[in-house]
Amino acid sequence: METTVDTAPSDTRMWKGISRKRTQTDRHDRSRAGQRVKIFQEVSGPIEPIPFISMKVFRTNLVVGKLAVEVHRKPIRNLHLKVLPPDGQVLVSGPLRMNDRTIRELVDEKEEWIRHHQDRIRKLPKTPKRTITTGEMHPFLGKDLRLTVIENAPRNYVEQSSSDELLLHVKKGITLAKKRALLDGWYRAQMKARIPALLEKWEPVMKVAVKKWGVRKMTSRWGSCNTKTARVSLNLELVKKAPRLLEYVVVHELTHLHERGHGKRFQKLMDRFLPEWKKRRRELDRKI
Ligand SMILES: [Zn+2]
Repeated sequence: METTVDTAPSDTRMWKGISRKRTQTDRHDRSRAGQRVKIFQEVSGPIEPIPFISMKVFRTNLVVGKLAVEVHRKPIRNLHLKVLPPDGQVLVSGPLRMNDRTIRELVDEKEEWIRHHQDRIRKLPKTPKRTITTGEMHPFLGKDLRLTVIENAPRNYVEQSSSDELLLHVKKGITLAKKRALLDGWYRAQMKARIPALLEKWEPVMKVAVKKWGVRKMTSRWGSCNTKTARVSLNLELVKKAPRLLEYVVVHELTHLHERGHGKRFQKLMDRFLPEWKKRRRELDRKI
């Protein structure tokens, strides 16, 4: 949701290309997994179109100061810096032509940011891998539901039987993968059922119109908005959080239909639409 692109590095020269060439899609949002920041384009010379044949990735490793950096060179135009869960691995991906010096400068410059996110990632509670068995707790709308698995049922389905209980009915011999898929499907349906009301509430207030929306599993952000096509994608995980947090992400993405970046104008609009948005953002950052 927040981007360090807003906290520009001191060397603005490197930033020149970005506003001109930036894609329409807001790709700066992030969630816990993979802190993402789009930094700048290759600085030297005009950018030539790269023939996009296959996404071949050349992987190397680099040590910058005390930081171990994984480097992926591939046919892309921009340089990306990420800090990855679960252990805070630093990943730089960029164009095939990107040289080591560029990477060293980038990592050097963003060291404080990297350390900050490494600390954050390492402090996160590790979510236990669920085995989909009776007694497990499964988050939903900011609360925990206790799961009961009913074996040998006539058909497979999920049912919320009370405000704090979830029933998973499964046929004989069902696999764990299928159980997971059933729960995922239930979460997805619950999330999809909640979006229309949010759009009906906010579109007239914000004077925007979403053309298409979708719910997806996303690893590095809570949502995204393609400002060109007015298409909004939302992270399926949001249905596990308190409803006000899903609402905040919806308002955030809708605000991009007015303003693509996350700069002053964006923040002013957010202040107007949802005065306590920063509080909700902090809450979303914490509750991962
Ligand atoms: Zn955004």
